[in-house]
Order: sequence, then C-alpha cells, then structure tokens
Amino acid sequence: MSDSCIFCKIVAGAIPSKKIYEDDLVLAFLDIHPQAPVHALVIPKRHIVCMDDLEEADRELVGHLLERTAHVARLLNVAQNGYRTLINTRAHGGQEVDHLHVHILGGARIGPMVCR
Ligand code: 5GP
Ligand code: ZN
Repeated sequence: MSDSCIFCKIVAGAIPSKKIYEDDLVLAFLDIHPQAPVHALVIPKRHIVCMDDLEEADRELVGHLLERTAHVARLLNVAQNGYRTLINTRAHGGQEVDHLHVHILGGARIGPMVCR
C-alpha cells in the first residue's frame, strides 16, 4: 500500500467507491469521471505503479486481473455488444493515477483511438 495513492485508499475503504466486484487480489469500481455510458476500473489490490513495473512473478496476478476484467464486463452487461479495455502507462500513455488499472469502456460505440 502507498499512503499517497488514491486507489490504495479506495482498496482500504478510506475513500468511497461504487464497487462492482472484489476478491482477494483485485477490485473493480466505477470511474468517478465516466468517459462512456459504462466506465469501470479494475485494479490489483497490491500497489503496482504501472505496466512497466510488472515482473515475471506477477504473471498469475495479471492473468487473473484480465480474466476478472472480462467477468466485470459481463456483470456490467457490456460484454455482448462489446467494450474497450485500456491501460495507460506513464505520461505519454496518459496515466494520471499511478496504480495499475484496466479501464472498461462500454455502453455505446467507443470512438477511434487517436493521437493528439
Ligand atoms: P488514467 O488516466 O490514470 O488511466 O485513469 C485514471 C482514472 O481514474 C480516470 O479515469 C479518473 O476519472 C479516475 N479516478 C481518479 N480519481 C478517482 C477516484 O477518486 N475515484 C474513482 N472512482 N475514480 C477516480
Ligand atoms: Zn496504490
């Protein structure tokens, strides 16, 4: 846990969130500023800053995170029509919260990926 990390505080329950799914390893909750009709985040409970911090020892956790992301998309009823998953890494990737998270965006057709 990082004392200064918003998502660690959400995991600890110190900051409220609209929780969708939780198990020992991961937590899913709604994004506070949704960019789509359905916008959720799925995070490892352990503080991992970003993709670039992943190591071989994290393979099982990452597999679980991705499989549970698919589960959460089904819980949110976006799986059948489809959704976009997104992981931003550091400044050029647009990462604002330094705790690894998978975005789920759905509920409407998500626009093209753009560079701007
Ligand atoms: P990033 O840009 O780092 O990939 O995405 C961070 C996401 O976290 C943003 O979509 C932002 O709206 C969301 N976010 C930031 N702070 C909070 C918070 O306190 N609660 C929730 N639920 N989402 C947050
Ligand atoms: Zn954290």
